[in-house]
Amino acid sequence: MGSDGVHDFHCHLDLMADPAAEYLSRQKYRVTTLAVTTTPRAWQQNMSWADGNPWTKPALGLHPELVEQAHREVGLMLDLMSEAHFIGEIGLDGSPQHASSLDLQRRVFREIVLRAGALGGRVLSIHSRRAATQVLDEIETCPTRGGVLAVLHWFSGSASEFARAISLGCWFSVNGSMLSSARSRSMIEAIPRDVLLIESDAPLRGGKGDLRSTLSRLSELLGLPSSEIEAATDANATRLLSCAALA
Ligand code: MN
Repeated sequence: MGSDGVHDFHCHLDLMADPAAEYLSRQKYRVTTLAVTTTPRAWQQNMSWADGNPWTKPALGLHPELVEQAHREVGLMLDLMSEAHFIGEIGLDGSPQHASSLDLQRRVFREIVLRAGALGGRVLSIHSRRAATQVLDEIETCPTRGGVLAVLHWFSGSASEFARAISLGCWFSVNGSMLSSARSRSMIEAIPRDVLLIESDAPLRGGKGDLRSTLSRLSELLGLPSSEIEAATDANATRLLSCAALA
């Protein structure tokens, strides 16, 4: 990390056209990257792509949009969590096309959060589209939530859900699409500076994921020099990653 690098706290490197090259390019361009995945079957490959490349942090995931078809993978997910310090993409999706599986998604998410809390020192990259309250309920009621370092990826909840997330100690990873939404912009201005992170969510919704442009737009929004935002968010990423490494 450091002054010559940026970080990307939510990126689907394994869904890109040439994943092996993408992992190497993160090293070449010094972009510390949380490499999230959508199924635990992707874990071994993610680990091997990230092997020997300290810039890429492989995460173990089970995407909420896939839970309905992949709920048989929950056992594998929970087993592999003992060797994975970074967990994502996980969470809940309450949008119309996934609402029918919301109860199932919730049971799965609860098991993952419980297991993360029991293991301790797990960094979670969490999807919460149209289900922010339910996501926060699960985090709040986890009896061992001290072990859960929750990063809300592309958070789009209400003002009161946002305030609740802050009080629960959540972190926020922010992308370029969020900076194009007036509602998200006013939330981003209110994110405490010490829990703010940058993400691309590439290649799904984040386009080609121009992290530099996200940083410069963020600096405009916050009225601070880009170098200051970069240093602050990078220090946050370093701090969060080291919490997981210590566990
Ligand atoms: Mn994603």
